[in-house]
Amino acid sequence: MIEKCQFCTANIMANDIFIFQSTGLDHLFLIKCSRCHATLLVRVFVDPCGIVRDELPTDLSAADILTFIPADELTADDVLKAHDWLKTDPDFIDAVLERIQV
Ligand SMILES: [Zn+2]
Repeated sequence: MIEKCQFCTANIMANDIFIFQSTGLDHLFLIKCSRCHATLLVRVFVDPCGIVRDELPTDLSAADILTFIPADELTADDVLKAHDWLKTDPDFIDAVLERIQV
């Protein structure tokens, strides 16, 4: 586990870590250094080769990242609803663009 910030060597404390997902063999979390505010998105998982750790420096907040993590899988009903919406709502594209703009 991480003990020091990679950028300023400050100690990483438990409240510097935001866990998004943590299943048995797959963990996704954000580390934000309380001293230098550097932020690192980290995924640790197990694959057939062993334990893998991917890290990505980011300027995204935990709230930003949560918007990219889907809550549910897309179903066939979701696709049919989108198709109906596309056929009947002339403002479909504008509504989609409005929803994805931050
Ligand atoms: Zn730091």
